[in-house]
Amino acid sequence: MREPRQVREDKTLVVNGGKPRIADSLPEDSGIMVSAAEDVAAVVRTGRTVHWGGGPAARELERRFAARIGRSRAFFHNSGTAALQTALFALGVSDGTPVAVSNSGFVASVNVIYHLRARPVFLPTDPQTMVCRHDVRDYGDGIDIHTALITHFFGNVVDIPALRVSLAPQYLVEDAGQAHGATLNGKPVGSFGEIGSFAGSLKKLVTAGQGGLNVFDDPEVERRMRVYAHHGKEGKYDELFPGYNFRGGEMEATLALAALDDLDARVERRNRTAAAICAVLDQAGIPFARVPRGTDCTPAWFDVAVLLDESWLGHRNWLIETLEADGIPLWRYSSLIGLPWVKPYMSAHGWWTDRDEEVLRAEQRLWDRLVLIATQTTPADGQRIAVALAEVMT
Ligand SMILES: *Cc1c(COP(=O)(O)O)cnc(C)c1O
Repeated sequence: MREPRQVREDKTLVVNGGKPRIADSLPEDSGIMVSAAEDVAAVVRTGRTVHWGGGPAARELERRFAARIGRSRAFFHNSGTAALQTALFALGVSDGTPVAVSNSGFVASVNVIYHLRARPVFLPTDPQTMVCRHDVRDYGDGIDIHTALITHFFGNVVDIPALRVSLAPQYLVEDAGQAHGATLNGKPVGSFGEIGSFAGSLKKLVTAGQGGLNVFDDPEVERRMRVYAHHGKEGKYDELFPGYNFRGGEMEATLALAALDDLDARVERRNRTAAAICAVLDQAGIPFARVPRGTDCTPAWFDVAVLLDESWLGHRNWLIETLEADGIPLWRYSSLIGLPWVKPYMSAHGWWTDRDEEVLRAEQRLWDRLVLIATQTTPADGQRIAVALAEVMT
């Protein structure tokens, strides 16, 4: 892989007076099922697009979604973030509750811990897979972990049973927001934790536009979740505690139902695009996140995570901006423990330890040299992006 200095001097780059490597704009699949437009219009014509406790489309989505994951219950929310927050609340997370969280995840997973005033305990990322390591017995730091919130990030799979043995949390929530359709030990992800949580925002596999779903089996979890998401009200009138309005709407549920029918084809398309990207990267000797070795799983690739050499630390953001001008779309995520409010929040509560300092440094060295290629394109376009990136980087 070339060093930043060599790439900065590359005369073929647009910033240095060259021509864009990809001149046309590549279409991205948002996941919205345009074919469901008439069904959405029919919801509008009823004059009622949301119902207290969930309308007919939301209820049908919950039934079908739960059945697909092999769970008995589901609850449709108005966002994936809302689903994560009610999941933690329903399991009893509140002030100071120790919640182990994979550093490899979306910002929402840490935000909901913050808003519930709980104590995050960050778990390390495996550089081979770019998802949470499953051998984490040292990371509880003598703290009794109440709940673990673990993300199957980039559509890759975390070995949840192994992680459970090593961390021994009381409860576990799988954030499968990017991994719907992936499997572990022959079963869908989202079926291993007490709660499986899924996002329905754009580009997510069951696209509602805005939406999120939790799947679970415990009726008491369902009761707490529905009360929390209906202003803290039990039924229509009885206020039990301060809650939120987190319930999902009928137009969104209608779009998600249509996307659910398309799920298998969608996962297959994304995995084909990922395979086309990975083949190019492999040939060029550029490292990227792999399926965990020794784990029986099939990912549903959301992004291909490319790991730049250490010489790129401090130059990665420049690279992404520069390649955007060359028509090469790339993306990045932050190290969650490195988010600007995390250390001050934890320090103010006396929760920041030497172990956290160590994890912070190691994770930033990893996440600060990551670039992502999205799989929401055709395989041919994915391949063009990878070829252009490989041209610049090698
Ligand atoms: C998108 C996403 C979420 C949050 O979903 P929103 O619907 O955007 O609130 C949570 N977790 C993961 C892994 C996601 O990708």
